[in-house]
Amino acid sequence: MTVADRPALDIEALRQKYREERDKRLRPDGNDQYQRLTGRFAHYLDDPYTPVTEREPRTDHVTVAVVGGGFAGLVTGARLKEAGVEDVRVVEKGGDFGGTWYWNRYPGAQCDTASFVYMPLLEETGHMPTEKYAHAPEILEHCRRIGKQFGLYDNALFHTEVLSLEWDGARSRWHIRTNRGDDFTAQFVAMGIGPLHVPKLPGIPGIHSFQGHSFHTSRWDYAYTGGDPAGAPMDRLADKRVAIIGTGATAVQCVPHLAWACAELYVFQRTPSSVDVRDNRPTDPAWFAQMATPGWQQRWLENFTANQSGGPADEDLVMDGWTDLSRRVRARIDALAPEDRTMARMQAAYEESDHEKMEEIRGRVDAIVADPETARRLKAWYRQLCKRPCFHDEYLQSYNVPGTHLVDTDGRGVERITERGVVAAGREYEVDCVIYASGFEVGTDYTRRANYDLTGRDGVRLSERWAEGMRTLHGIHVHGFPNAFFVQPTQGANLISNIPHNLTEAGRTIAVMIKHALDHGFDEIEVTKEAEDAWIELLLSGTGPLLGSPDCTPGYYNNEGQELGPRWRLNAGYPHGATAYFAYLDRWRTSSTFEGLEFRRAAP
Ligand code: NDP
Repeated sequence: MTVADRPALDIEALRQKYREERDKRLRPDGNDQYQRLTGRFAHYLDDPYTPVTEREPRTDHVTVAVVGGGFAGLVTGARLKEAGVEDVRVVEKGGDFGGTWYWNRYPGAQCDTASFVYMPLLEETGHMPTEKYAHAPEILEHCRRIGKQFGLYDNALFHTEVLSLEWDGARSRWHIRTNRGDDFTAQFVAMGIGPLHVPKLPGIPGIHSFQGHSFHTSRWDYAYTGGDPAGAPMDRLADKRVAIIGTGATAVQCVPHLAWACAELYVFQRTPSSVDVRDNRPTDPAWFAQMATPGWQQRWLENFTANQSGGPADEDLVMDGWTDLSRRVRARIDALAPEDRTMARMQAAYEESDHEKMEEIRGRVDAIVADPETARRLKAWYRQLCKRPCFHDEYLQSYNVPGTHLVDTDGRGVERITERGVVAAGREYEVDCVIYASGFEVGTDYTRRANYDLTGRDGVRLSERWAEGMRTLHGIHVHGFPNAFFVQPTQGANLISNIPHNLTEAGRTIAVMIKHALDHGFDEIEVTKEAEDAWIELLLSGTGPLLGSPDCTPGYYNNEGQELGPRWRLNAGYPHGATAYFAYLDRWRTSSTFEGLEFRRAAP
């Protein structure tokens, strides 16, 4: 169908429908509707994959401690090693490297952003992703590959959680205490704790009373289900009735596997995900060999980011759902006459393109799902970036599998859990197992998610420093916290479609600064108050965070629909876009003047 053949969109009717659907879901308790996996649920957090081994507590000193052994910690550690900083210790709560890919081994787990840009350090390790969207075991193996190649296993502490980080100004070093009795020091600390590592459960009444089996998707219990992360069928579910609560990105990936494995599967839905085409395919080694010339991954990263963030891009190397979205918006804006390119007209063009895309996604549901009522209930009524966009070619098809039932709660969620099962819309569904695909803490304070606070210069805590919201330079440095670096996207590029790109650039920058300090005999690196303030002012001069519209249906992208306030405004990225940010950061770190930082020698 050409654009001219398409029926005109009734934008006002769509807006009205979106508002109605949002209003059904707004609730006063926001993030408080969820609960942590404590008390009776604490065992849900046990590591089902690697036994914990005894070891002596560490009381030594290292040059750099890296908190977190996921992508953020791995790329930072790797860049440090590359720079010749050998004495690096990674502290990781899992039993191995991998972070989110260590914990999330649910059936069907795979990356949603193309492997060629999602998997870090491909060129350095020489790994060719086997698929456009690699599955979890390959990504986990890649994490181990990075750990091995860069010697990060040598000094790593696994199954270890940091409990406190305290700055010792007299000796220019951090004191690190852990849950394994370690009490060691590090001149520098880099923290890559990830945004999605604290699983949460819905605070559904009666949740404690269920007498059957249950677990969270991030601790998949293959001993109960049978099968394995590599895709062996879950043969122990053939006579089981299973409920899965939640229909976010995780459920979209694991429901197709459950649908074929269970006697009966009940999928409890509060808000449908938008599920666009995935179009996964194996990588052709001949194509890869010819494409992967020196510098290829950096070129792909820059191309993807340019396509995503309005940077210069004549071609689209990745060609996926993310770049399709931005290409369409750009085409609409480019079609405007120069004199019409006002903010209002550009926003209207964006909205039109968004509605068009969502109509296609809703149309896809009708084309795939056989039962019209189920199809109606699987349609997402919100703008695409209100919730995490999903891409899958078997999820919607699952509802055509006999024994798979969508239990749509029309925005209200599960009512109750009983000893026997799950209650929704007044009916009890008796089940043998409840799987919680209920996600992770996102909108809560950094120190709550980290599970430790930092005590910086003069005894000031990070939780106090950030009481009114996050304040950094580049999302990396915080005034009053010398030699501490944050590896994460916010207040940097804030490129949500490919988080690893943010992390590799932050890791590279941190390695350059630490190397500079060591080479020149500096003991401390700290951002000045003025530079931090100026950065925040620059961020606030932009249009604000990409995500978080109060018009959206509630979710972690908009603080569950609660008042966003000035703290939320600080979740912004560089106002000129991700491509411009990475170019700026590259100039900043290669200038060797590191404007805004003070490099100090300790008093003799
Ligand atoms: P989400 O937070 O996205 O989803 C949680 C789900 O639980 C939602 O559907 C939510 O509904 C539902 N829910 C919560 N409370 C209730 C209730 N009382 N009754 C019924 N349903 C309820 O978690 P996910 O684990 O799916 O995904 C988290 C994030 O992890 C993703 O957004 C993505 O960033 C990342 N991820 C990435 C993947 C990848 O890149 N390959 C794969 C999987 C996840 P509602 O929407 O109404 O709140």
